Order: sequence, then structure tokens, then C-alpha cells
Amino acid sequence: MKVISTTAALRAELAAERQQGRRIGFVPTMGWLHDGHLSLIRRARAETEIVVVSIFVNPRQFNDPNDLLRYPRDLDRDARLAESVHADIVFAPEVEDIYPDGYATVVSIPGLSATLEGAVRGPSHFDGVLTVVAKLFNIVQPTVAYFGQKDAQQVFLVQRMVRDLASPLRIEVCPTIRDPDGLAMSSRNARLDAGERTEALALSAALRAGETLVAGGERDAAAVTGAVSQRLHELGIAPEYCAIVSAASFEPVATVAGTVTILIAARVGPVRLIDNVMVSAP
Ligand code: AMP
Repeated sequence: MKVISTTAALRAELAAERQQGRRIGFVPTMGWLHDGHLSLIRRARAETEIVVVSIFVNPRQFNDPNDLLRYPRDLDRDARLAESVHADIVFAPEVEDIYPDGYATVVSIPGLSATLEGAVRGPSHFDGVLTVVAKLFNIVQPTVAYFGQKDAQQVFLVQRMVRDLASPLRIEVCPTIRDPDGLAMSSRNARLDAGERTEALALSAALRAGETLVAGGERDAAAVTGAVSQRLHELGIAPEYCAIVSAASFEPVATVAGTVTILIAARVGPVRLIDNVMVSAP
């Protein structure tokens, strides 16, 4: 496995592979890899010939400077983990490589970028995400890019961007990987102490309560979000939001019909956590 730190070197490396007709699978990450990331890399390994994992803590998607400062980083550790699941290339560019002096272009999806995560973190969060993802797509030119359902709004927006801009690649959405007790894996979990980690179980427990209600026939979205919020409060967590959106449009629904996504965000100790489940109502 190669660790490459400049756009120029990565382009040179991949040009040869592309000429041979090899399909490139791409997994963009911010590092501090966990099993969630590794599941994306394994999927890319199974489906494409050249697997590129990017590790870039993108300053433009952080609304909180402290969150950016404290984001866990360890390239050697990440490279070892990526190699353990047979990635071919780790691309770890410097901030100046991605955003050189005079960098000005922003990719933005008004409306959808301002709801839920965008409402809490500000619309510049998703502008930052989409801008860096678009740039990484141009650098890597993957055949397929792999994203996690864990960040449901993010992957929805990336899919919309790819559709709107006719970007020549396919997006694959991979299921959320959880610890055995239900906590969705996240690089930010590293900053929870033992007590906070137990509190954080409230998120997945509350989502399960919502799932159970829908499975039991509840179709009133407000009743479901009410029950999910109540469960969170009972477990000592105040949600930042709790919403049900259509999986197809990401618009809020009043009635649960077809496939919907129940989403929650909450602060636990020093970190913000997000989680979601998709539920289908027959
Ligand atoms: P991040 O490093 O947090 O930017 O995440 C990089 C990619 O990994 C994104 O597509 C995330 O949705 C995905 N990801 C993060 N956590 C998980 C998880 N627990 N299960 C599956 N995918 C995940």
C-alpha cells in the first residue's frame, strides 16, 4: 500500500491504472479509522480493482474551531488499518494542497443544506463537505465512491450533487456499523469517557423505540418523533433535533409511508453525535 500526500503524485499514480482499464473505488474519510470506515474499504476492495482511501480533516466543514482542533488524527495508525483491509493507496493531502492560496470555489445545494445538520451547524457545513467531496472526486476520478448511511443527510446531498452535475461516477451507500451494544461507530466516540459512552447509548435506544412503533403500525410522524424524543429525555439526553424524512426526498413527512429515515442529533459530554435508522412502512 502507498501513502501519497500530493494531488500531483496521486494523479500520476492513478493515470497509469486508469489506462489499464482498472476500476477505481474511493472511500473519502477524515481519518481516525474505525470499523465503519473499514466496512466501506472492504466493500470497495470487493467491487473495484484499485482502492483509494483519502484522509483529510476538512477545515471548511467545521463550524466549531474547537471541534476541528480536537478532531483525532494519527496517519500512521490509519495507514496500518487501511492496509489491514487491503487498500491500495492512502491519499493524505495537506490543507494547502486542497485549498491553495486564492482558492474560491464553493459547491452548494441551497435549501437541503440548511435543514437538520445544516440548521444546527450552519449551511457552510455542507458547503464545506460538498466542495471537498467534489474536489476529491476530480482528483481521484473514481468509478465508484463509498459513503456511510451513518451520515444520511451528507450522502443524500452528495448523491444530489452527482446527479445535478452529471459527475461520471456511481455512489454506493453502506450500512451503519455499530458497536455490539448499539452505539454507531464514530471517530468522535474516542472523546467520550466511560460514563458519557454509556449515556450515548440513548441515541440508538431511542431510534429502536421509533422503529418498534412504526413496526407496530404507528403512521403519525409526530407521534414517532415525540416518542423518540421522550425516550432520549428519559435516558438523560436532550436532542438537538429529532426528525422523520422521506428517504427519497429528505423532506419531512407528516405520515410514515414507504421508506423513511428517523434522524437524531444530540450532545453527549464534549461531542455532538448523530444517528439514524431507515424504516419501511408497507
Ligand atoms: P468521516 O471520517 O466521519 O468523515 O466518515 C467517512 C465515511 O465513513 C463517511 O461516508 C461516513 O458516513 C462513513 N462512516 C462513518 N461512520 C460510519 C459507521 N459507523 N458505519 C458506516 N459508515 C460510517
